[in-house]
Amino acid sequence: MALLQIAEPGQSSAPHEHRIAIGIDLGTTHSLVATVLSGKAKVLQDQQGRVLLPSVVHYAENRTEYGDDAKPFITTDPKNTIISVKRFMGRSKADIKFQHPYVLVGEDNQMPAFETAQGRKTPVEISAEILKQLKDRAEDSLKNPINGAVITVPAYFDEAQRQATRDAAQLAGLNVLRLLNEPTAAAVAYGLDQDSNLAHDRNYVIYDLGGGTFDVSILRFSQGVFEVLATGGHTALGGDDLDRLIVKWAKKQLNIDSLNDNEFAHWLVSARQAKEALSNTDSTELKLLDQTLTLDRTTFEDIIKIALDKTISVCKRVMRDAKLDLNDIQNVVLVGGSTRSYAVQKAVRDVFNQEPLCTINPDEVVAIGASITANQLIGNTNDGALLLDVTPLSLGLETMGGLVERLISRNTAIPVARRQEFTTYQDGQTAMLIHVVQGERDLVEHCRSLGRFVLRGIPPMTAGQARIEVTYQVDADGLLTVAAKETTSGVHAQIDIKPSYGLSDSDTERLLLDGFKFAEEDKSLRHLQETKVEAKRELEALEQALKVDAQLLTATQLSKLNLAKANLEAQLESAEIKAIEDAVEQLKIHSDAFAAARMNQHIDAALKGTKLDDWSNSN
Ligand code: ADP
Ligand code: MG
Repeated sequence: MALLQIAEPGQSSAPHEHRIAIGIDLGTTHSLVATVLSGKAKVLQDQQGRVLLPSVVHYAENRTEYGDDAKPFITTDPKNTIISVKRFMGRSKADIKFQHPYVLVGEDNQMPAFETAQGRKTPVEISAEILKQLKDRAEDSLKNPINGAVITVPAYFDEAQRQATRDAAQLAGLNVLRLLNEPTAAAVAYGLDQDSNLAHDRNYVIYDLGGGTFDVSILRFSQGVFEVLATGGHTALGGDDLDRLIVKWAKKQLNIDSLNDNEFAHWLVSARQAKEALSNTDSTELKLLDQTLTLDRTTFEDIIKIALDKTISVCKRVMRDAKLDLNDIQNVVLVGGSTRSYAVQKAVRDVFNQEPLCTINPDEVVAIGASITANQLIGNTNDGALLLDVTPLSLGLETMGGLVERLISRNTAIPVARRQEFTTYQDGQTAMLIHVVQGERDLVEHCRSLGRFVLRGIPPMTAGQARIEVTYQVDADGLLTVAAKETTSGVHAQIDIKPSYGLSDSDTERLLLDGFKFAEEDKSLRHLQETKVEAKRELEALEQALKVDAQLLTATQLSKLNLAKANLEAQLESAEIKAIEDAVEQLKIHSDAFAAARMNQHIDAALKGTKLDDWSNSN
């Protein structure tokens, strides 16, 4: 057994009934679909025998084109031809800062819509159209309805981006069995989860160089679970950049200073053809309108070195983040069309000092892995084992002083549920704000806010008496539900976290890296905040006590106490832990005497009370 076993109620099927499940790689530039047939995973072709569906949709006034049919309109009708819609998924309008040719409409903090010849289309709708194409392709080719699908997402996708993907799949009429991290899918395709030697943890590097993006992830496979140890990448570095570097080189060779748009577009096409040809031969012709240049592997390697060096330095950084060295890496997996280049393979081999896995077509490997997982989830395999995934960032809630209490830490295997008790801060508090945050830092302001809700109707009690049970539940797709319940009264409130916008990849990366970088600083900030919260609690309690029992103090005692109180209030404004602690100490000297006086008085009252009761009872 290689995987943790989890029975999913209602998901197992009768032994002979084969149910159809597909895996979809919903890519930035290309999307594709695969399924397991007779125990073997294979990608599905459209009627023209094509596997890769360019992720492009063209909205003309009275018709819609997809994929290769839509591609010509990228240059002739850019506003109505949506490419790279994945970059817009789960983002608010304000989040979208990169360049694009589209007219986006909508509120700043909401999901934007593209203004097209067919009206407004949201990123979710457009992705749904791409998914629908693949679903139709699968149904045509398998001559059966599809029972379920696994859709892959980048490891760094946050809740909002995952939710948007899930929404798109539902809109396309797909039953989503699971969203799966792309690097995990690639590892599954190579059967890296089937390794019989489970005694040791295993670490894998997934190097994914696609058309326009670069991602590298380090996965650890431990006790049947893949966890993402670190991720890194570039949102604008891929095969397209290699093409541009070739054009730049060619211009220099031919002493050409500038090209018009049309020429440039043609040269790019030639560059790409030459680049792809070099994956099979040592040398090729680069045809540029009326001229021809010879391009060999060594020259190509030189030309693209600048781009490959960038990917290599990211690889080194994620290795450092994961605190691993080369000997800890069992396998390196190549993903993405650009890793077909000999030069890319060589660079990866050199940096990791081992032969990378590339026997499975690198632009199909993610879909293949997704289809294997889909086949398991739908219940077609006998082992009934499920592959577990993990949370990409920690989930927590805001506590007093703007501190984050982490309920589920990063890299926890999902599905997962965690419960923790909290209490009220003030006497008579009847409501509590539950603020859900995501990130690795200790202060709320440094994390990402996912949503908030209020638990109302808490019966008034003394501070610290109410028992508020907060439950965080992440389902198998990484979607979060937060519930809060006051246990003495049973008052209950809950939200599903479905924010309309999300983090950019670089944001997620930044949140992770900040978590590492600021760990020390966070510790002292947390200490400061906690000291402040304690001090405020002290002041609050003293305030209440003075309201009732101030008369127990002499005028001198009272003024000394007030002085110490004012001093602490002043120190709270500073950010000096030591000064605050000293002020608390000073205040305690006076407040302890006050507390003792109160105690005596209460004992007296209690004794008197007994007598009074005895007296009234006897009457
Ligand atoms: P994405 O994951 O971003 O959707 P892909 O994984 O499909 O993209 O990769 C597309 C890129 O792969 C393009 O830049 C294309 O030129 C490049 N590519 C495809 N085949 C080859 C090849 N044989 N040699 C080198 N690069 C290739
Ligand atoms: Mg890809």
